Amino acid sequence: MQQHHQILIIGGGNAGISTAAQLLRKRPALDIAIIEPSEKHYYQPAWTLVGAGTFDINDTVRSEASVLPKGVHWIKDAATRFEPDQHKVSTASGQEYTYDYLVVAPGIQLNWHLVKGLPETLGKNGVTSNYSFELAPYTYELIKGLKAGDKALFTSPGTPVKCGGAPQKIMYLAADYLRKHGLLGKTSVEFVSAGSVIFGIKKYADELMKKVNEYGIQLHFKHDLVEINGAAKTAVFKVTDTEGITKLVTKQFDMIHVVPPQSAPDFIRNSPLANAAGWVDVNKATLQHTLYPRIFGIGDATSTPNAKTGAAVRKQAPVLVKNLLALIDGEPLPATYNGYGSCPLVVGYGKLILAEFDYDNKPTETFPFDQSKPRWTMWALKKYVLPWMYWNRILKGTA
Ligand SMILES: Cc1cc2nc3c(=O)[nH]c(=O)nc-3n(C[C@H](O)[C@H](O)[C@H](O)COP(=O)(O)OP(=O)(O)OC[C@H]3O[C@@H](n4cnc5c(N)ncnc54)[C@H](O)[C@@H]3O)c2cc1C
Repeated sequence: MQQHHQILIIGGGNAGISTAAQLLRKRPALDIAIIEPSEKHYYQPAWTLVGAGTFDINDTVRSEASVLPKGVHWIKDAATRFEPDQHKVSTASGQEYTYDYLVVAPGIQLNWHLVKGLPETLGKNGVTSNYSFELAPYTYELIKGLKAGDKALFTSPGTPVKCGGAPQKIMYLAADYLRKHGLLGKTSVEFVSAGSVIFGIKKYADELMKKVNEYGIQLHFKHDLVEINGAAKTAVFKVTDTEGITKLVTKQFDMIHVVPPQSAPDFIRNSPLANAAGWVDVNKATLQHTLYPRIFGIGDATSTPNAKTGAAVRKQAPVLVKNLLALIDGEPLPATYNGYGSCPLVVGYGKLILAEFDYDNKPTETFPFDQSKPRWTMWALKKYVLPWMYWNRILKGTA
């Protein structure tokens, strides 16, 4: 196999495939290879809807081969090591690849093991997570099984996560399900979060609080999940009080939806490409690496302080592509990313608040109406339009 490529991309997920597709649309003669170990490609944003029984899990997965742009070389392997001064990447199978330009897009790492007892009990004993293709359908099984007197917990960790809204979206859907089945107020629903607010932007937080009150959801902030005992159906949280003093609090549950602690992938954290926090250290406007000009980063693995979402990737990809092509041509980098991120906050069946904002947490809404109000049209956008756009436009480099 050819060991040198003009452009080498690490990761064939949302960001890697969009970037390759857009590059080839602009310059079909580019020699591009993607290092991607997985045979499958997932549309993760729909897993929230799968967990609520309103989307088919099988429609969230396709073969990696089917989404790779024509002409891209697929290296079916995992990157393990970077030697940026030699323009070299090593892989799990012991191969070495060199490049003229490198795009790093391996996504975020889910650290299930950092919650004691969690890996052993996932998928049974009422313990679930929409952050996994295998588990999202189990979430709906658990929601359907809730009875009067039961307790449902929804957790959110203290680390950055992909789709910051996902820990609570499934909670609103569960509460709406209970409402439809006459169980609201009889089954307890609790948001147990390591964070200190429901949402970082007041305009959307105010509307979310209306839903919290309407559903009678109990909020517990500064509660970080540290341990689960599946058999006993207990969860242990490290709770920090206003003076910063911590103690452990144990809560009983009948169902618990866990969002795992997340970080940059280990092979990034332990590489010369990482910043102090472990993320691919890129300029937040140009997406070019701060130390190695031939390297760019995109998607969940980078240091850019935006909401880690596919929506952000959609705005980052054209910026990266323009800048990379300018670099190849020996010109100044022309494009800048403003930190756009979007969070489609599902607050019930058929109801969605579409939060859109930039690096300064300033709302940057697309539609000519107040998007903080729950709407059916925005729900339809998430359920029908965006999945179609993902497979047919975004991955093809035309949106
Ligand atoms: C439950 C849930 C709900 C979400 N909801 C939304 C939403 O409503 N809206 C939204 O915009 N976003 C949402 N997201 C987030 C969105 O899916 C991600 O932000 C997006 O997929 C990021 O793209 P990425 O390419 O950086 O990472 P990914 O799409 O995760 O792709 C990373 C790729 O890198 C590969 N990889 C990993 N390690 C290596 C390695 N060592 N070598 C080579 N390749 C490697 C992986 O196999 C994977 O294919 C949600 C995510 C989840 C889990």
